Amino acid sequence: MDHVLGLECLICGVRYTPSEVEYVCPKHGDDGTLDVVYDYGAIGRTINESGIEGFGSGKGIWRYKALLPVRRDSPVPPLAVGDTPLYPAPRLASELGLRELWIKDDGREPSASFKDRASAVAVVKAREKGVQFIATASTGNAAAALACLCASVEQPNVIFVPASAPAAKIVQLLVYGSTVLLVDGTYDDAFELCLEACREFGWYNRNTGYNPYMTEGKKTVVYEICEQLGNETAGNWGIPDVIVVPVGDGCIIGGVHKGFKDLLALGRINQIPRIIGAQSAGSDYMWQAWIRGEDVLTKPAIRASTLADSISAGLPRDRIKAMAAVKESGGAYVRVSDDEILAAIPALARGAGVFAEPAAAAAYAGLVHATESGLVTADDRIVILSTGSGLKDIDSAGSSVGEPHRIAPDLAEVKRVLGTHV
Ligand SMILES: *Cc1c(COP(=O)(O)O)cnc(C)c1O
Ligand SMILES: [Zn+2]
Repeated sequence: MDHVLGLECLICGVRYTPSEVEYVCPKHGDDGTLDVVYDYGAIGRTINESGIEGFGSGKGIWRYKALLPVRRDSPVPPLAVGDTPLYPAPRLASELGLRELWIKDDGREPSASFKDRASAVAVVKAREKGVQFIATASTGNAAAALACLCASVEQPNVIFVPASAPAAKIVQLLVYGSTVLLVDGTYDDAFELCLEACREFGWYNRNTGYNPYMTEGKKTVVYEICEQLGNETAGNWGIPDVIVVPVGDGCIIGGVHKGFKDLLALGRINQIPRIIGAQSAGSDYMWQAWIRGEDVLTKPAIRASTLADSISAGLPRDRIKAMAAVKESGGAYVRVSDDEILAAIPALARGAGVFAEPAAAAAYAGLVHATESGLVTADDRIVILSTGSGLKDIDSAGSSVGEPHRIAPDLAEVKRVLGTHV
């Protein structure tokens, strides 16, 4: 918090001090998403010349503590959040007629999804406030991330998850020891119930698009990408021309935008890449609003239904930030069918060795669309965010591939099946 000037309502622009408000603008209720405003001058004086490491020698996302809304002296969870690999994907690039493509693999986080970046910050904030319980509603990954990070510091937590969440994600919660409330309803129902419960019991609320600090954890991916694309010896920071992000609630894409805005304000980069949001055709609220020029403050919820459960959101909770990310960066929204998402799973795995869950594979499917429709061109340097591990949802992955060969334990069988292939 050392460098936070305040929390600004994205609707009315009123700025509050962090002690005045917890989550949303009091005048605008649950829609009044807040943006954390930093003192970039002070941050610029704190951080290093080449990197943006501030406040000493933290690891992973904590390297960027000077740019995070936590106190300098706050203890952080011991798990390794952030510092995920950025892989070049030359074979996929050439298939798509592109020159440079990278995959940022956040399936490699401690709980196997991007959400760890945000949940790590939630755990630190809750402890700064000294609350006893943290709660969240989630389609699965935000919950698994919170459960994981909480377990690492023995922090009690309560999770509201729709009963339709994939089994692996629910098992994760139970294994980490969370109190799990399986809600007979949609993610949106679970979200509202969690809000109510937090108000009633005074729990710390991690809900996406409601807790303003989640964007801040998520933005760390951009610092890493720019460092990874830069030339370490020359101390340069690199930027892609385009970044493709899968979008459900819109918190990740808002965080990506915030990360670039921070670096621009600090003079580390000189422009913001085009940010492309990829949605499932069965959960395309942002795409609709973008194409039709609709106001996300008045556009009602849609019915969301997609096998990419992590991007299923009838009313994206971070829609103000999600729209600004695309509009202000000169990007776009694309939408892809569930079949295209399924096809993207083996395509990514075989083309680059990255096994992604459906929502994560949607970024690649979205890139295919963006390439076909001319939103990206051969010369663009492109990064796609792979936001979660394929092991999170093996049923979907399984339906995207064929069956194995079943054989007797006999070499003749091997020859019969493989024929001339060996
Ligand atoms: C949460 C999630 C997303 C979408 O992030 P939003 O902030 O909800 O837009 C994409 N992929 C995975 C794997 C996720 O868990
Ligand atoms: Zn307001």
